[in-house]
Amino acid sequence: MAVPEKSYGDDMAVIGDLTEDSLPHELKRRYERNIIYTYLGDILVAVNPNTMLPIYGGEVGIVYSEAKNLKDLSPHIYAIAGKAYRNLIWGRVNQAILVSGESGAGKTESTKMTIAQLARMSKSQEPTKLAEQIVEINPILEAFGNAKTTMNDNSSRFGKLIEVMFNKQGKIIGAKVTEHMLEKSRVVHCGNGERSFHIFYYMFAGLSQYEIEHFYLSRPEHYRITDPRHGAPVFTSQMDYEANKGGFEELKEAMNDTGFPSQIVNIIFAIMAGILHLSNIEFAPDPELQQLIIVNEDEVDYGSRLLSLQADDLVTVLIASSSFVRGERIVRLKSMHEACDGRDALCKALYSRLFTWIVKRINQVIHVQDDQDRYIDAGIISLLDMAGFERFQVNSFEQLCINSANEQLQSFFNTYIFSWELQEYQAEGIKQPKIKFTNNNEILGLFFDRPIGLFAILEDECRLQMSTDGTFVDHMNKEFGKNDVYKRCKSRDPVFTIEHYAGQVTYNAIGFIEKNRETLGTNFISLMQNSHNWLINELFDDRPDSNTRNIDKRNSQWTVPEWNQPNMPALGPGETLSKRAGKKIKQRTNIDRPLPAIPNSSSTSTSVHFRNSLASLMENLKASEPQFVRCIRANAEKQYGFFDVKLVHNQLLNTGVFETTRIRKLGYPTRMHMQDFINRYKVVGFPVTESVEINPANCDRILQKAQLYDYQIGKSKVFLKYWHVDQLNMCLEKFI
Ligand code: ADP
Ligand code: MG
Repeated sequence: MAVPEKSYGDDMAVIGDLTEDSLPHELKRRYERNIIYTYLGDILVAVNPNTMLPIYGGEVGIVYSEAKNLKDLSPHIYAIAGKAYRNLIWGRVNQAILVSGESGAGKTESTKMTIAQLARMSKSQEPTKLAEQIVEINPILEAFGNAKTTMNDNSSRFGKLIEVMFNKQGKIIGAKVTEHMLEKSRVVHCGNGERSFHIFYYMFAGLSQYEIEHFYLSRPEHYRITDPRHGAPVFTSQMDYEANKGGFEELKEAMNDTGFPSQIVNIIFAIMAGILHLSNIEFAPDPELQQLIIVNEDEVDYGSRLLSLQADDLVTVLIASSSFVRGERIVRLKSMHEACDGRDALCKALYSRLFTWIVKRINQVIHVQDDQDRYIDAGIISLLDMAGFERFQVNSFEQLCINSANEQLQSFFNTYIFSWELQEYQAEGIKQPKIKFTNNNEILGLFFDRPIGLFAILEDECRLQMSTDGTFVDHMNKEFGKNDVYKRCKSRDPVFTIEHYAGQVTYNAIGFIEKNRETLGTNFISLMQNSHNWLINELFDDRPDSNTRNIDKRNSQWTVPEWNQPNMPALGPGETLSKRAGKKIKQRTNIDRPLPAIPNSSSTSTSVHFRNSLASLMENLKASEPQFVRCIRANAEKQYGFFDVKLVHNQLLNTGVFETTRIRKLGYPTRMHMQDFINRYKVVGFPVTESVEINPANCDRILQKAQLYDYQIGKSKVFLKYWHVDQLNMCLEKFI
């Protein structure tokens, strides 16, 4: 382990003739010498090495955490952690570390390393269990939120914001995780060569034979969720099997360390097993009765046992829907398509609600504990790990959400770096540097305006019974005909093109309406609310305090209610539960078991959730000083040692790095009040004993003495390029 040496090009922004073409080549030259980190001004570019380099760990961490001036060391993710930490503790300004890049670029690894380094710095004050717990939450989040994709074997299928809270002494006192947009469709469907969420495979590899039987499970190939299709084995090799087994052990350990009682862990696995069974349920038309029957009743039986449901209730809601109209119960039998959709929606809802619940429970453990005083003077470092801009062959609803979120982040970036500066140049009466920058307000308006923005139109369409993906696109074509960033497309398919900050993307709207509707019917929700399993009740209880009922807040101990197994009437010979339920339905044309009316579930669409969570994310970021980390994939093959210049060029464009380079070079990222400036740097220009008046001339004298040029002095502030600060600090060190 060694601290990498400083080298040429550590900060690309000081290279005078840097261009869009030369930047990727410079990065390549460094990458070939295993130098993966580079500064662009104060932005860190990190190229994924796809191999573990000996530049991490405690020893290196200590060097970075103890460095007097971080710029004396080579660029490193630890330096970003250090900078945020110092700005927080010394400067008392909340920090946000924004990690961006495409899938597989190294965002999550960078985030984990940053947290480890923050914990290390915090621990140097005093070791805490909490700092370790915060590092420990990752295996849990990844087991339930990550999956193997073609881009990344351990791809996060959700965005997350981790807020780490520090007290005045620099000790970690709490943290909070917020998850954004779990890709829940992956529970029941994933692309060729990809997998569903890790947890399912971990269970098959890691559960004991006894547990497998306890959950009524057989081989993973038997389940729709884990079946890789085309007869391929689920585990590609013994090594793969062992890796999943290891993942399961790590998960259990992490849950234990985070304080999940073993009973709760068991219930969580039972629900996972329940989802495996539910997803396997198949329907067939019964021509005689013109209704659906269930083909594999054993899955209904197992699923309902694991989820503590009455099997006949489950069958009823799967094949029929019931509602009240003017006091009359109306029962409607479902079509095959509707029944399959309902089954899948139930699996997705169970999974995503459980994920959210797990995150909430984690938060209750790592949250700042009762003592209100500790909030006072507490500071926060937030870390954002969210999917970067995406442009594929076919772009769907998921890309639309991700890209619109990235537009917001880009706008934040522009605002931070650029607009605020311009405003200040004006206020201070200094000469404005000539910068042309792409303002993306128009596109944000296109997405988020009300009542006529893309999301508003989509939500309108989703409320109408008769709308289709086609009517949605027609509606947009009508509204956005004259919009510069929206282009109608000539095609039979419902497609449209948007001009993003990182280039054009054509979206295919097939499936938008369905993906955006919260498709879980009220009958399903009431079924789950009536489960005998308290955890499932909690998942489907939409009242605001619903997730805190079983927690004793004082000591964060969980009281675990009994897990009531449902009272299952004994089955007759050859009888299965769904057969019995089916019989009941056959006996009458109406359904005899009245479903409880569903009271308080609010059905909002995916995009409403998305907009709300994005808005609160932006609020949070705007209240902090940002540090930007741009992660880059060196090649598409996840290989060590190969650098694909074209691929990298594209990512530099997508992450706004080119735009950044330009703005940083032309603007003045550092502004200091004259008084602060003179107090801090006066020894550079004046004898130590002299008292120095606060005025522009004296500021000028200091800067002249430091042999700087190209700065500006306004009415009350000094405007500096970031390297001016480095130079001044260097001069200062001579006097200390
Ligand atoms: P993202 O979150 O951007 O999709 P990840 O952080 O999951 O990407 O990184 C993908 C893979 O790349 C990791 O599983 C790891 O193998 C490798 N990787 C990423 N960053 C590093 C790094 N700094 N050093 C070594 N390997 C890395
Ligand atoms: Mg990730």
